[in-house]
Amino acid sequence: MNQVDRMRLTVLVEDLKNRPELTAKHGLSFFIELKSAGNTTNLLMDTGPSADIVLQNALKLNIALKKVDSIVLSHGHYDHTSGLLGVLKYIGKKVPVIAHPDALEPKFAVRKKRLKKAGIPFQVSELGKSSGILTLKRGPTSKAPGIWVSGEIKRASPFEKVKGFKTVRRGKLVKDYMPDDQALFVVVKGKGLVVVTGCAHAGLINTIKQAQKVTGSSGVYAVIGGFHLAGASAGRINATIEELQNAGVKVVMPCHCTGKKAITKFSKVFGKNCNQLRTGNVVTF
Ligand SMILES: [Zn+2]
Ligand SMILES: [Zn+2]
Repeated sequence: MNQVDRMRLTVLVEDLKNRPELTAKHGLSFFIELKSAGNTTNLLMDTGPSADIVLQNALKLNIALKKVDSIVLSHGHYDHTSGLLGVLKYIGKKVPVIAHPDALEPKFAVRKKRLKKAGIPFQVSELGKSSGILTLKRGPTSKAPGIWVSGEIKRASPFEKVKGFKTVRRGKLVKDYMPDDQALFVVVKGKGLVVVTGCAHAGLINTIKQAQKVTGSSGVYAVIGGFHLAGASAGRINATIEELQNAGVKVVMPCHCTGKKAITKFSKVFGKNCNQLRTGNVVTF
């Protein structure tokens, strides 16, 4: 069967924390353990804003990072990739690093009409010298039965526009539509489809539609991660919620770049099935 028996996700770092002994910082890293029929797949989705934070929090949370089978980069922004080299050094064994090729391109954020560097803060050649096996893919990849990395996400939803990012193409500064943005899809036995996003720059609803297409599973049980709705209009937030309801989403677990305004609305609509995640939270399905 194309599903896993159990899923356990630990928030190694995000912008806020729920325990004083942990460190929170703007960024994201999830450790995800997937069990099926005696097999365990351990994925590290993103490596946060610094390796030290990820490694120290993992130690305090009893997460055996050395057991990571693959590292998945949701996109090329620094708050998701800065810890990569340090984490690989700590893991100390060959491990695939799965990313979209555009994650390695120069990336900038436009803040108050100024450009701020926002991409991976090291040279790709340094990654070549590490134990990471860089695996660049544009299409979806299945890691094990019931587990997929989304690949490039089709943009179809009219209200999900990417704004505020630039990249360099053929020597020119151009708009960055973030084609590198990808998510993780897991089908959990007895629950259904679980969608884990990094920042959902591609749009949360576009990501869900991709998940349904790639996995062939229409019932969406949960969406977890950064939904990139901080600064979004009320119209976009409402349209997102309406589409989540149309997709039959039962559980929403926002964090990171989702924004207070959106989380407040999610809570009103989903009630106790909306849980904001913070550094140190563990989710099991
Ligand atoms: Zn981002
Ligand atoms: Zn982010």
